[in-house]
This record gives sequence, structure tokens and C-alpha cells, in this order.
Amino acid sequence: MSDVRNVIIIGSGPAGYTAALYTARASLKPLVFEGAVTAGGALMNTTEVENFPGFQDGIMGPELMDNMRAQAERFGAELVPDDVVAVDLTGEIKTVTDTAGTVHRAKAVIVATGSQHRKLGLPNEDALSGRGVSWCATCDGFFFKDQDIAVIGGGDTAMEEATFLSRFAKSVTVVHRRDTLRASKAMQERAFADPKISFIWDSEVAEILGDQKLSGLKLRNVKTGELTDLAVTGLFIAIGHDPRTELFKGQLELDEEGYLKVASPSTRTNIPGVFGAGDVVDHTYRQAITAAGTGCAAALDAERFLAALA
Ligand code: FAD
Repeated sequence: MSDVRNVIIIGSGPAGYTAALYTARASLKPLVFEGAVTAGGALMNTTEVENFPGFQDGIMGPELMDNMRAQAERFGAELVPDDVVAVDLTGEIKTVTDTAGTVHRAKAVIVATGSQHRKLGLPNEDALSGRGVSWCATCDGFFFKDQDIAVIGGGDTAMEEATFLSRFAKSVTVVHRRDTLRASKAMQERAFADPKISFIWDSEVAEILGDQKLSGLKLRNVKTGELTDLAVTGLFIAIGHDPRTELFKGQLELDEEGYLKVASPSTRTNIPGVFGAGDVVDHTYRQAITAAGTGCAAALDAERFLAALA
């Protein structure tokens, strides 16, 4: 068992690295678990990021995350490319176990494990991510000016994405596997009234077409089995997200969708000394800058919590 640290941070996206930077600069020597496979978080899977302030010409997602990582490390954050596989957050001293079974102890823990966007599970999906395939209209809509776009899904998020995208797109086709939408009445009415938005019902994506760039979709009618082609250069998948909170179930309070509950506007969870930041908490904004912002807030909350213990 290790010595007791001030703070352990779980997660290495914009929220985790920003919390690491702030706690490191406050001389708290944070230990950061970055994840074994996906250090750097969701932006490692994208190409150009044009909406993170401070980069006039945009920056590639992986480069932005490498910069954040290096900045945190420069001030003394200890970064570990490993997963946390178990936690006990209930006592005054919290424990965090890594994949080798080593138990790490700390007075405070910041949870910044992010959320996983649901995928269609099709062969070309990852290869064409950032090359026509996207999960975020706010992030990528601007790249699709005057193009034909498909949005997959039938809930509020899908309608919101479709309505937002119709500002830029030549056309937006919503593909939904049922014949009615799950979205709220107001969102539905807004989408139905939009002349650029049309609907293909009872259909799912059978194939994502394209080599280096998306060129279209093969759709399957779930009732008749009929296959049709849809020529689009943009595909927005809006079928939901899963917050990474499995580890914390039974200890930290979660909302009905599994997101971490915090006492907003603070980042305090239901357990003193445990703080939550980024997309694991946020199902509203889901942006790199908002994740970084709450990572900063969690670091400041942790710093004040530790100061009060002293
Ligand atoms: P994440 O970035 O998801 O990072 C969480 C990290 O925690 C991951 O590295 C994960 O491995 C790690 N982790 C999870 N569980 C454990 C564990 N048990 N142990 C150790 N580590 C763990 N936003 C923008 O503002 N602009 C954009 O242009 C933009 N483009 C995007 C493009 C794509 C394809 C996607 C998917 C998202 C995009 N976003 C964009 C959204 C943005 O990436 C997220 O809002 C942001 O990354 C959330 O940050 P986070 O720190 O909360 O979580």
C-alpha cells in the first residue's frame, strides 16, 4: 500500500488534465490515472478542433491533448497510463486500485472518466470518424456547409442535432428505426417544420460507405428488409451516450441516466473529498472547453477541501 497522496485524478480528457494542471500548480502532486488504452480522452479520436479558444487556426485533437498532458506534467503531475479497476471512496482516506492490484491512497479524488458515445457498431465507423462521421453537431456542423447530411436517432438529441445542422447543410435526412420519434413534442414540431429536414422511417444503417471519406449510406428497412442507398457526405450518430460510472455505483450518487451527481455549481459529489468533472457529470454541453472548465473547478474544490483538513 502506498503513502497517502493529496489527490488522485481518474481520467485524462480535458477535465482530467486541467484538474491535474491546477492541482499540480497548487503543489498537491496529483497522481493521474490516464486509462490504459485511451489516454487523452475523446479528442484523441478526432481530427481538427476549431472551437477550443486560443487556437486561431484550429488544432488537431490529439495535438491539443498532448499539449494539455505536457502542461500538467511540467508542473509535477504524475501521470500513469493505466486503468483504475476498483475504488473505495467511503472513508476519509480513499483507495484506488490499478490493474496490477496496487492500492493507492488519497485524501481527495477527482472523477473525470468521461462518457462513451454509443456507436452503430459498423465496420467503417471508426475509420471514417472525423472524415464525415461525427457524434457532435456543435463540434463539427460548421465543416458541413452546403452538404447533404444524415442524422441517426429519434430522441431529443437527434432532433436538436438535425435542427442545428440545418443551418449549415443543404439537406438533413433523419433516419430512424421506428415510425415515431421519442423526442419531446416541441423538438419534433421544430424538426417537422424545418423545410431542410426530411425523415426516413423504419430504417437502420446497414453499411457506411466510403474509402478515405464518407460517400454515403446503405439503409435497410427493418420491416421489409429492402436496401437503399442514401448519398450523404456527413453522418451524425445521435443514439446516446454512456457515462463511465460503473466503478462508482453504490458509492457515488448517480442520476437516472447514470451520470455522476454533483452539487452544482460546485463539483462536490455526495461523498466529502470526492469531486466530479467533465462529461461524466455533464449531459448538456459535452464540449472540451466545458470539461476543462469543470476540471479547473474540481481542482479548486479539492484544494479548498484539503486546506480545510489541514
Ligand atoms: P474524456 O475526453 O472522455 O476523457 C475521459 C478519460 O478518462 C478517457 O481518457 C478514459 O480513458 C479515462 N478513463 C475512463 N475510465 C477510466 C478508468 N477507470 N481509469 C482510468 N482512466 C479512465 N468537443 C469540442 O469542444 N470540440 C470538438 O471539436 C469536439 N470534437 C469531438 C469529436 C469527437 C469524435 C468526439 C467523440 C467528441 C468531440 N468533442 C469535441 C467532445 C469532447 O471531446 C468531450 O466533451 C471532452 O473530451 C470531454 O472531456 P472529459 O475530460 O470529460 O472526458
